[in-house]
Amino acid sequence: NPTLDKTSDTVTDACTDAGLDGAFVRTRGVCKSFHGRPVLKEADFRIGSGEIAVLIGKSGSGKSTLLRVIAGLEEPDAGDIDLAGQAVVRDGEYQEAWNELRGQVGMIFQSYTLWPHMNVLENLTIAPRLALGESKGQLLERAEQALTDVGMAHHLRSRCTQLSGGERQRVAIARALMMRPRLLLCDEITSALDPPVAAEVLGVLTKLKEEDGIACGIVTHDMAFASKAADRICFFEDGLIKEDVPPEQAFNDPQTPGLQAFIDAVR
Ligand code: ADP
Ligand code: MG
Repeated sequence: NPTLDKTSDTVTDACTDAGLDGAFVRTRGVCKSFHGRPVLKEADFRIGSGEIAVLIGKSGSGKSTLLRVIAGLEEPDAGDIDLAGQAVVRDGEYQEAWNELRGQVGMIFQSYTLWPHMNVLENLTIAPRLALGESKGQLLERAEQALTDVGMAHHLRSRCTQLSGGERQRVAIARALMMRPRLLLCDEITSALDPPVAAEVLGVLTKLKEEDGIACGIVTHDMAFASKAADRICFFEDGLIKEDVPPEQAFNDPQTPGLQAFIDAVR
């Protein structure tokens, strides 16, 4: 397949590439070691626009590391990454295009990363105010829209310390939306929440995927969500993605002993 190896020269090419195979982000042969110990050994991974990929696998299998590499928080040792059909990493090196495209990637973590001394509006507007140079009025409008998207419009002026865990994570999603990401990476963002609250927060991501075509990569232990909302399940083991299949297949007909054992353990 020639599109796999092509590095795009123009935006038109990029759009065609993205359209041809639907991948908004794609990694090939991404490797990462810590202190000489390989954590990612040739990770091949992709998420399409308007698609939810759920990453599962035992603790330590490299799920967070892959998301962090895609978000630019961790440098890969080797491998290629394409974003929106453009080459952002080649042979482990960030390319020029990364500077333009990095704003399209948002990442949200488990621990609440809101500034406690600021209210919701301030949390949402501080980064885009510095980065995008938009007026206060425009930012207020954007913040209202982002909070509406996550069902938190009535909390514009609330203090973050007064919000529940689920509300804080919804604000964290809204804050990521302020930068207009096309890819949202969520690393165990509901692990500290009760199941019904977690389901609500994850439901927000399904809505964003459906209504805005955002690509989502989600690490979660919530198998009810994974089986219902994922377009694909990516099973990590020994630094490799051993299976990348629709949820029906992952849960009902796992092909590898590792995924079989994982499914049996969480059932
Ligand atoms: P998962 O998210 O699947 O639990 P991680 O990607 O967090 O796995 O971690 C994979 C392995 O890499 C673990 O053994 C972890 O200790 C190690 N690791 C991750 N980040 C670092 C780091 N910054 N420095 C050293 N070791 C790390
Ligand atoms: Mg992790």
